Amino acid sequence: MRAMSCNWTSSQSNRLSEGCGRKLVCNNMACFKWIFILYLAFHSRLLTKDRLANWGCVDDVDCVLCGSEGENTSHLFFNCSFSAQIWQKVLWWLNIHKQVCNWENETSWAVTHCKGKQPRAEVYRIALASSVYHIWQERNNRIFKVRIEMLR
Ligand SMILES: [Zn+2]
Repeated sequence: MRAMSCNWTSSQSNRLSEGCGRKLVCNNMACFKWIFILYLAFHSRLLTKDRLANWGCVDDVDCVLCGSEGENTSHLFFNCSFSAQIWQKVLWWLNIHKQVCNWENETSWAVTHCKGKQPRAEVYRIALASSVYHIWQERNNRIFKVRIEMLR
């Protein structure tokens, strides 16, 4: 797999992400719960703090993983310094030597370089689903663990 620069702009719509997502979700051999969270991420349907704030459900929109920026799908995957470190290590483990990009660039890179039924491509798609799922779980654990401790 070749390296690619991060040259997509953030102005490209979510349609790109959703189109990419279909290819990465439908051809993914990961377990269902990982694929489901990946599907929600591609369609911006995860209940991230920016969406909850828009509905008036929360006031605090800071990312619980890094604490330095607002939480949204693009930030969680993989603009966040915490998740970027994880994804970078996964890429190295996969022997993919490129810098971590934002969500749109990562997914478009994946569709270009990790399509088909070659074992490396399938392992990449599983690793992407696993990483997204476990980052989302870590985010939930940090939020809800604090709330449970506050209730005690
Ligand atoms: Zn963050």
